Amino acid sequence: MYELNETHETITSWVESANLPDCDFPIQNLPFGVFRRQGSDEAFRGGVAIGDQILDLAGLHATGLIAGRAGERLSACLGETLNPFMALGPEAWSELRLCLSRILRADTPDRARLAPCLVPQNDAEYRVPARIGDYTDFYTSIHHATNVGRLFRPDNPLMPNYQWVPIGYHGRSSSIVVSGQQIRRPQGQTRSPGMEVPVFGPSQRVDYELELGIFIGPGNPLGSSVNLAQAEDQVFGICLLNDWSARDIQAWEYQPLGPFLSKSFASSISPWILTAEALRPYRVPWSRPEDHPQPLPYLESAGNRTAGAFDINLEVLLQTRKMQASGDQAARLSLSNFRNAYWTVAQMVTHHTVNGCNLQPGDLLGSGTQSGPGEGEGGALLELTQGGKNPLALNNGETRKFLEDGDAITLRGWCEKPGHPRIGFGEAVGELLPALD
Ligand code: CA
Repeated sequence: MYELNETHETITSWVESANLPDCDFPIQNLPFGVFRRQGSDEAFRGGVAIGDQILDLAGLHATGLIAGRAGERLSACLGETLNPFMALGPEAWSELRLCLSRILRADTPDRARLAPCLVPQNDAEYRVPARIGDYTDFYTSIHHATNVGRLFRPDNPLMPNYQWVPIGYHGRSSSIVVSGQQIRRPQGQTRSPGMEVPVFGPSQRVDYELELGIFIGPGNPLGSSVNLAQAEDQVFGICLLNDWSARDIQAWEYQPLGPFLSKSFASSISPWILTAEALRPYRVPWSRPEDHPQPLPYLESAGNRTAGAFDINLEVLLQTRKMQASGDQAARLSLSNFRNAYWTVAQMVTHHTVNGCNLQPGDLLGSGTQSGPGEGEGGALLELTQGGKNPLALNNGETRKFLEDGDAITLRGWCEKPGHPRIGFGEAVGELLPALD
């Protein structure tokens, strides 16, 4: 189902930094993004990360080294969004990946012509790599759903539909920003327990959510649905996603129709999208505990059981203003793994379209906060501090219930497996600014 090919082999690149063991972007990764030189008035265009460099796809196109059908695929990556490339589908993505892998190998004869197409990542600025028409945020960690449910509804933590329905809600795409952009503390209505009427003001409970973002490929016509066997053909790739959340606004507004302004003020994504093909070696079986309800037939398949899940390590780091001032390293807040998700990416895609809803190229699905079963695996402060009741003690003596102004949150993700190089997602970073007066 997920065959490996020569792009996954243990090859090295003539871009030396790509061969270092801790590098996020070895030649087996080749994630796509949209960039330009920092502070320039160049057009944003597609690029592929390799080591500490970016292969400029517009520059590559101009060399004429990739011709024929692969050259046509490449020309879909030259604009300021990758939607045209995402629309082409898995065969086209794979064809271009193979060409890129070949020209970046240590033994390519074209090195001298390619070297001018490299731009150092340190000199680049990024953009959200697609025009995201629609953004849907799922809720696929049962550990997160149970922990949060316990705080909001102690008598009824996990709603009865959770084990049957891949729960999601329609989010806001206009406020999705790329890593590095600062986030403004939102204002809104809140009502604390015991208050008779709500108050208006800056949220006092701003939180992060550790998620992955799934970019959709070709999509499906309105009125059709995507069955589970074909769902993966719709998955262009995966990035990091921080779904910033205002817990006090959320607690007051979420019933009966779900989150609204508590989520729509900002979500940050990493600049790089790892393709589904790059992630193939790190696919793992998906299972459902035997004493839980098993999925309805439309969400069940042998392929999904065999390799439906992804083994992706996920990490959250916090750097406070004080840490920054004293040159201290960021503190790790949590570590978890996407393999613990209760629903797979394929099940999300199929469920989303089962009513005839059309997905379109560049749509984004959020995985939901990825909390693991253990201590320190909560994917949000809400869980790590039990709703603010037990502040986290940081190494430098500071404590946190929720985020304070000047706090910077970094998400990281990576895959490791014996016999394969480590591949990484880079980072999704965002710093919280004070609320506007
Ligand atoms: Ca979320």
